[in-house]
Amino acid sequence: ARDLARPDVVTLEDVLAGDPTTYRVLTGDRPTGALHVGHLFGTLATRVALQRHGVETIVVLADYQVITDRDDPGDLPGAVREVVLDYLAAGLDPDATTIFTHSAVPAVHQLMLPFLSLVPVAELDRNPTVKAEQAASGRALSGLLLTYPVHQAADVLSVHGTLVPVGRDQLPHLELTRTVARRFNRRYGHVFDEPSALLSDAPLVLGTDGAKMSKSRGNAIELRADADATAAALRAARTDAERTITYEPERRPEVANLLLLGALASGRTPQDLAEEVGDGGAGALKRYVTDALVAHLAPLRARRAQLARDRHVVTEVLARGAERATAIADATLATVRVAMRQTA
Ligand code: ATP
Ligand code: MG
Repeated sequence: ARDLARPDVVTLEDVLAGDPTTYRVLTGDRPTGALHVGHLFGTLATRVALQRHGVETIVVLADYQVITDRDDPGDLPGAVREVVLDYLAAGLDPDATTIFTHSAVPAVHQLMLPFLSLVPVAELDRNPTVKAEQAASGRALSGLLLTYPVHQAADVLSVHGTLVPVGRDQLPHLELTRTVARRFNRRYGHVFDEPSALLSDAPLVLGTDGAKMSKSRGNAIELRADADATAAALRAARTDAERTITYEPERRPEVANLLLLGALASGRTPQDLAEEVGDGGAGALKRYVTDALVAHLAPLRARRAQLARDRHVVTEVLARGAERATAIADATLATVRVAMRQTA
């Protein structure tokens, strides 16, 4: 009965239709810069909704993974701070949600070693997200990037996460986490439940250049930006040559992306918004999206500005998070070592 398989991908509606408190959420971000609207609509809003429904939520800031695709991690403590401010401003409540950095919880990384033994290199070589990130980095594939998905399995399984809200780019990694759990259980006895990925209605928000919105690409609308910067980014956003606005995600991805952002920010459907804008063209669409996003983000931005004035809040949140995550991950590592008969 313990092996009752969870589906590999679920939606928020699926989770809320059952008893959401049977899940434990583990998810995270790389501290490579401040978060953007892709994060908000892709995973952050879902995390906040789950937290509101009483789901235990744990969020990792993958500070050890910043150097997977660059030589210089930049101002790491500064980037961690920006992301934690984004979390809190978006509504993650540190009394209900555990927020920790990789570097504060050594047991997570120790789990990586037995997990690596379960995965052939040929399987890692096939991961499409790793391939895309390696190509985007313009560098040779490092061992760290190649094994990134195993490290992510260690993140999730170290705290027995069973629900992982992510963007679409993370699905191959989640599949590997399930594989690692399954293989570990088969070899050493049942320790891990296979987690499900949770995809939102916006699993792949595009940036102003038409590629995936990413902190590292300079194509993002940051949550912390002001109204003017938001308007400027949207004015520069790529569209296409057709005058009339229609919602056709396959054929017109950039226009569909703007429609989706406008819809999510104003609680409408993209189809309905397309009909309203119609012959107004890209200019009218961008003005609508700007107004809707600026209004939607205003409370978050106000909270963020207030939180940023507090010099201690981020440190305190991370200290509490590290303590709780360490307790959980240490217990998992102990269970793993017993299961592997590495300890009496
Ligand atoms: P980087 O460019 O440095 O890799 P990123 O913007 O891709 O940054 P990550 O920290 O790698 O952000 O991703 C954190 C989480 O946010 C992941 O679950 C990822 O799938 C999700 N995410 C990132 N970008 C988007 C996006 N454009 N649309 C939807 N979800 C996204
Ligand atoms: Mg990324």
